Amino acid sequence: MGAEHDAAGVRIELTRGDIAAQPDIDAVVNAANAQLLPGGGVAGALHRAAGPELAAACRPHAPIRPGECVITEGFALPSQYVIHCLGPVYGIDEPAAGLLADCYRNALLLADRQGLASIAFPAVSAGSFGYPAREAADVALATVITTAPRLASVRRVRFVLFGEESLLVHEQAL
Ligand code: ADP
Repeated sequence: MGAEHDAAGVRIELTRGDIAAQPDIDAVVNAANAQLLPGGGVAGALHRAAGPELAAACRPHAPIRPGECVITEGFALPSQYVIHCLGPVYGIDEPAAGLLADCYRNALLLADRQGLASIAFPAVSAGSFGYPAREAADVALATVITTAPRLASVRRVRFVLFGEESLLVHEQAL
């Protein structure tokens, strides 16, 4: 299940699963909303698994702008940190591809500045924010591959995809 690829010494892994259940990953990325509130989808799953401390830790950082990322502890999550990213709402926040690339690049550089070795992403913006799945996957993978040479501590980047279709689209993009 899934695929692997090496980019400048950084291993890219594609897998099906739940972003809130990644025990071997230092930081998981939240497909957040601007107010950093629990909500549904990825944000709902992460806040449920982390416990109420996560919402409290988010409050002083809100609101964030599309493309921006902030980091908090992971509390009851198996991962030590959560990096909250605001993806573009497709058809509204422009340029969509540029803002989505900003999310991935900023999250990777933030994890790297923290000295983390591994980070896991969901398909940011590809759910309630309406970004077409294949186009989002192309932007996500291209950005990880072009950012990889700038990373000093991050050695593993995992995409945790929710369904078979999402995994397939990412495999094709890779
Ligand atoms: P956005 O609001 O940025 O579009 P969503 O959370 O609505 O973010 O969805 C982003 C993607 O994550 C979608 O493909 C959705 O199916 C998927 N997803 C939803 N829940 C989870 C989860 N627990 N783990 C991994 N991926 C998830």
